[in-house]
Amino acid sequence: MDQARRALEAVLGASKVFFEDLDRLTYQDKFAVNDAAHHPAGAVAVESVEEVQAVVRVANQYRLPLFPISRGKNLGYGGNAPVLAGSVVLDMSRMKKIEFDEKLGTVILEPGVGFYDLYDYIQRHRLPFWLSTPGNSWGSVLGNALDRGVGYTPYGEHTKNICGMEVVLPDGDVVRTGMGAFSGAPTWQAYPFGFGPGWDQMFVQSNFGIVTKMGMWLMPEPESLMGMDVEFDRPEDLKVMIDTIAPLRRERVLTQSPSIGNWMRAASVLTRRTDWTDQPGALPDSVIDAIRRRFNIGWWGVSLRLYGREDVNRAAYRILETAIGNAGPLSIKPTEWKRGQPLEYSGWTGTPLTFPMSNINWYGGRGGHIGFSPIIPQDGDLALAQFRRTYARYQEYGMDYQGSFAFGERHMTNVNAMVFNKDDPAMMGRIDTFFRQLVADAKAQGYGEYRTHLDYMDLVADSYDFNNHALRRLNDKVKAALDPNGIIAPGKSGIWGNAPRPGSGTE
Ligand code: ADP
Repeated sequence: MDQARRALEAVLGASKVFFEDLDRLTYQDKFAVNDAAHHPAGAVAVESVEEVQAVVRVANQYRLPLFPISRGKNLGYGGNAPVLAGSVVLDMSRMKKIEFDEKLGTVILEPGVGFYDLYDYIQRHRLPFWLSTPGNSWGSVLGNALDRGVGYTPYGEHTKNICGMEVVLPDGDVVRTGMGAFSGAPTWQAYPFGFGPGWDQMFVQSNFGIVTKMGMWLMPEPESLMGMDVEFDRPEDLKVMIDTIAPLRRERVLTQSPSIGNWMRAASVLTRRTDWTDQPGALPDSVIDAIRRRFNIGWWGVSLRLYGREDVNRAAYRILETAIGNAGPLSIKPTEWKRGQPLEYSGWTGTPLTFPMSNINWYGGRGGHIGFSPIIPQDGDLALAQFRRTYARYQEYGMDYQGSFAFGERHMTNVNAMVFNKDDPAMMGRIDTFFRQLVADAKAQGYGEYRTHLDYMDLVADSYDFNNHALRRLNDKVKAALDPNGIIAPGKSGIWGNAPRPGSGTE
């Protein structure tokens, strides 16, 4: 490691190599249940593709595992820490170039470009395009798309907005995907597929390469934004909500992905648990009622939004109004915006936000959180059953339930926030078993997670087990072929390649 460190200093200069104790503390997942399992050996900060290549050469020479991060704000999923303790974090947050095609609304971004950076760029240049931002917009636009993050506009499935990448492969070669493979092609950000196999998704949630540039599509600023915030009274209303909204989403009357959330969304961001009760265990119905009264909300709430031409939105709004009205809501609050009016800061308008993260202070002490997020069918009965199973587990483990059901076009992502107080040893002692229980419950239904924390990558990868883990074998074969020395993020998404798999008896 000392030799590797000196070699890194030789190629980058000592000012970009961080191996002191304090540096290592910076690259640690402070939100994790078990942060000690992911302590890095150090970090390097690169500023160009050539520097990435130079680091990759050193890593191959010394068999040094690197963990590439963009801005490292993947909070709840690992932050800026590596899967494998002792890795060197490859920090690309200083690479912040933005190339903007103002006609097509496409960008080429480097890893360090955050949502705030891109937002500021758009404001500064008065460009008629909107972002899609996640609830924690502190991170990188590229990094978030690489972990399949989501937002709330019609461009909310961020990984679908990717159009062409530049990637440094584990052997140091630089490849451009899609039309970027064609020298001088002016269509790199226009047509995502190129010729032959498509590779963009191969570099998403994987460890096959280091992405140094990403093309992405942005939404043209709509003429009008209309919609409604809707509340429903009872837990079992989840069924009618899903069965009402899902067909509209599939038909593309709704083009954004609404997310149904429970009363905890408001309570955990705007208040602390001690404001409501000093009793341990999951919140009882009496407290839930008090929370709902204070915020004037239902058991579930959902915001529906229409984007585009005003005439089209008005027609679509009438369809929504009838459908939702027939579903028996507690309340419907309409909302409307037209181009030129001041814009509300929210996920619906693609403005960057960080306040939803204050939910980690719910229990007090040092807050942390992880997410349990299975993909489930777009079906009211099945979603309700999934909710009931999960809610019963939250009660069994004495944890407060924060759940949401976000619509894709053909699926639902059931995100369950697991917020905790790291200073409460009794609570921390329960979290791991609780999480594993939820994974097992979902597995029994055939539901797999879309994304997970570093601690659970092998567990989740294991649950994708068709034909005795054929997908894992394929991933490992590709990994071993591209990265025989195992230098890029060993263990990411449960892919180890030639490196020993923990628990296999070979490590
Ligand atoms: P953000 O700051 O947007 O939250 P991160 O930098 O935390 O994004 O990245 C999210 C995950 O994606 C990381 O854990 C890492 O495994 C992977 N990743 C991030 N950037 C890159 C990259 N440029 N190349 C390859 N993988 C990356």
